[in-house]
Amino acid sequence: MPPERRAARRDALLALLPRQGLDGLVVTHLPNVRYLTGFTGSSGLAVLLREETIFVSDFRYRTQAESEVGDVARIEITPTDRWERVRQLLGEYAGVGAVGFESQTVTVEEASSLAKGNDRRVAFRATKGLVEQLRASKDPDEVEAIRQAAHLAHEALDATLETVRAGQREREVAAVLEGELRRRGSEWHPFPTIVASGPRSALPHARTADREIVRGDLLLLDFGAQVDGYCADITRTVVVGRAPDERQRTIYELVRAAQLAARERIRSGMTGKDADALARSVIEARGFGDAFGHSLGHGLGLEVHEGPRLSALNLEPLPEAAVVTIEPGVYVAGWGGVRIEDDVLLRAGGAELLSRGDTQLRALT
Ligand code: ZN
Ligand code: ZN
Repeated sequence: MPPERRAARRDALLALLPRQGLDGLVVTHLPNVRYLTGFTGSSGLAVLLREETIFVSDFRYRTQAESEVGDVARIEITPTDRWERVRQLLGEYAGVGAVGFESQTVTVEEASSLAKGNDRRVAFRATKGLVEQLRASKDPDEVEAIRQAAHLAHEALDATLETVRAGQREREVAAVLEGELRRRGSEWHPFPTIVASGPRSALPHARTADREIVRGDLLLLDFGAQVDGYCADITRTVVVGRAPDERQRTIYELVRAAQLAARERIRSGMTGKDADALARSVIEARGFGDAFGHSLGHGLGLEVHEGPRLSALNLEPLPEAAVVTIEPGVYVAGWGGVRIEDDVLLRAGGAELLSRGDTQLRALT
């Protein structure tokens, strides 16, 4: 990531702080640290002040920190408690009185020790979602990374589906899929791969199990890929071993129509609630509203689940250039479920597909 990009993000964050009554922010949520500094390791925090950015980590990350972060931050490698080091560092700045910390990653224990130190000059205050607010709108290179991740995810799925047969176990299918994802350049699986067959496909967050796939089963595959830290998230549901029966076809086409309706009508500026309703209204109109028990989708980026949410609970407008999933589903206990998930970039004029959007019902015969 070029240093100018990180400088622009730093400026955007600093611009949010006066409204919160803050002179700085201690960033501990690792995806936020990565977003602001470029650090990809698993232990480090960033202190953003008007005067400078300070990156604090330990001995294990000295070399990595220098190469990834050295051009945008002062690096402090400390053998002691990192919060103690943060306090010492903040003491160097006479004008810093109130500093925020990220409430989603700071533990109760850490927060209470910070509060106890409030007799000192710097006061620490809990904040929520400041960096996430910036992350919700993607830069062009972030969009490109997600597009690449989606592209390789589809190629891995194609290669996997060619090998799927009745009689295999779900875990065998997941192993092939995960191998294909890695071979094609996915850095990691951003969440546990879901391969759910037959009645298990009715569990929206099924874990892959050792169930043997039976001829005629619905097979739901929900999986991710990661490129430059950015995640794609795709679901396809297929029928194994024979042509779909009438009920499979009916429910599949309903979910497909709902997904397409949302893809065609969603745009930035509408609320998360209104976006959710685009697909939900289609499913409810056919009497399956109760069988679609989760929200329509979620933001994608350095995390596989981030803002904005396409949910009836989200009354905020969707930001321009957000990347979100569109993943309606219908789940019938004891029978099975269908979910179809694609990834899109939101613009005021509509959505641009980043994944393939090839949702016609596939039978593996
Ligand atoms: Zn998914
Ligand atoms: Zn998803």
